Amino acid sequence: MVGRVIVAGGGLVGRTIAVALASQSHLSVTLLAGPPPGRDERASAVAAAGRRLFSRIGVWPHVADVAQPIEDMVITDSRADDLIRPEALSFEGERGAPFAYMVPNAALYGALTDRCAALGITEIAASATYYTEAERTITVELDNGDTITGDVLVAADGRASRLRGIAGIGVVEKHYGQCGIVGTVAHEDPHYGRATQHFLPNGPFAMLPLTGNRSSIVWTERPQFAKTLVEMDPFIAGLEIERVFGLSLGRLTVEAPLMMHPLSAHLARDFARGRLVLAGDAAHGIHPLAGQGLNLGLRDAAALSEVLVDAGRQGEDLSLALPRYARWRRADAAQMLLVTDQLNALFSRRSDLMRAVRSIGLGLVDRRDKLKSLFIQEAAGIEGEIPRLMRGDAL
Ligand SMILES: Cc1cc2nc3c(=O)[nH]c(=O)nc-3n(C[C@H](O)[C@H](O)[C@H](O)COP(=O)(O)OP(=O)(O)OC[C@H]3O[C@@H](n4cnc5c(N)ncnc54)[C@H](O)[C@@H]3O)c2cc1C
Repeated sequence: MVGRVIVAGGGLVGRTIAVALASQSHLSVTLLAGPPPGRDERASAVAAAGRRLFSRIGVWPHVADVAQPIEDMVITDSRADDLIRPEALSFEGERGAPFAYMVPNAALYGALTDRCAALGITEIAASATYYTEAERTITVELDNGDTITGDVLVAADGRASRLRGIAGIGVVEKHYGQCGIVGTVAHEDPHYGRATQHFLPNGPFAMLPLTGNRSSIVWTERPQFAKTLVEMDPFIAGLEIERVFGLSLGRLTVEAPLMMHPLSAHLARDFARGRLVLAGDAAHGIHPLAGQGLNLGLRDAAALSEVLVDAGRQGEDLSLALPRYARWRRADAAQMLLVTDQLNALFSRRSDLMRAVRSIGLGLVDRRDKLKSLFIQEAAGIEGEIPRLMRGDAL
């Protein structure tokens, strides 16, 4: 009998899992999409490994036109009122290949939704309310009164995951007392594919290139300041962004309304229990300073489809594959959580002594080619144990 996978959560990660499974195997896939998403003006940095995954599962051609390659990245460490920001560290993608692409979330969502339909995935516009396990099956109750039964249930239902709660899986959580301000700005001059990250005393400020003379900003600030900024007249908010970023791209205009998100990190204590498995924000969440939140979820998608497809081919009960996924992915997510947490802590200190220590550290990285290429590989998502789809291979 064909293995049956139920995916709960129609966000970017849930849809990527559904498309990966349906395009690479004969497993039967049902997507419980949950509540329809609101407007998402954000764009995400998709690392080179994520691009290979999307190419392999037939999604990339549908977003390629709106994906902006990040050709190089510059990091500075300054006070907010420093007019000149010396480059502390700069990276270029290796052998001319970009290490990441900025892709509008709405375009990615649209491409994944179209691909789900083209692959004939059964999509149900309902939410999971409860589940029960039997010896060889798992049955999900829906808020429309229906039930569906499968071999495994993937909980990709976001950071407040209801299914994780029903499974009794706890989370370790840290609130940063900071907010992420996100929005799109238009600028007079071209960015040439350059991403800039200024480490400022209240938190990092990133300017990430979009197609045309536009960039996406991710600015970490204190909650009170963030609230004032998003409520400000967009013209004045643009001046405020110029004050922080400078005029290296000419005059800036706020295009899409600025939004704020309270920042926190979390990690589920386990990524699988019985026939239930967690993926994406249901399993982990990290500080957005390195733009790696979605990339971690994409690695979950690639790793989970790999272990499930392998188990299905060997005729195994699909749930036997889940512990391997849980060990593999939890270690990687925990490591990324720690790295982003420590970077945020290190760069959010105000003292001049800390700045001196940081600049020595960054200067060393900049001069040592080997260390630098390791950093680039990390940013491109090509370090560690890489799932096959992320190497561009079929399952
Ligand atoms: C300020 C900020 C900037 C960021 N920038 C980046 C970036 O540049 N690059 C990057 O890689 N990441 C970034 N991230 C992180 C990234 O946005 C998330 O990690 C990613 O969107 C998570 O996707 P997901 O599908 O796991 O969860 P979600 O997007 O939350 O999707 C969950 C889905 O589950 C559905 N659902 C909920 N309950 C149920 C239920 N009971 N049954 C069925 N369905 C249900 C919901 O309707 C939703 O569709 C950023 C995050 C923040 C806060």
